[in-house]
Amino acid sequence: MKKQDLGERPPRRRDFLGLAIVTTALAGASVAHAEAARCEAADTDPGRSSMRKALEYISPSNLPSKACSGCAFYATTAPNCGKCQLLNGPVSGDAVCSSWAPKK
Ligand code: SF4
Repeated sequence: MKKQDLGERPPRRRDFLGLAIVTTALAGASVAHAEAARCEAADTDPGRSSMRKALEYISPSNLPSKACSGCAFYATTAPNCGKCQLLNGPVSGDAVCSSWAPKK
């Protein structure tokens, strides 16, 4: 059996190209998440900060099927950012809190 048959061949240029594509995609996802995190990070209102804690606001959501972008209290204001009617302030589209309610 040849060495190549065992998957032990030397790396080829297309291997590096594939790695570069995957790395670029992951970097893009990271940037998108960082942008989402900035939605509430720029909000310095102490009342809303307390309310986020009271509502157990988590950014990003730890519940795969629930996110602010799918919540009835969410209004989109920018890509990945929106305004929560309960908090009366900015939230990330991929965040969630204990008051999440599905859009109708
Ligand atoms: S009420 Fe809805 S939009 Fe507001 S923080 Fe909670 S899940 Fe997000």
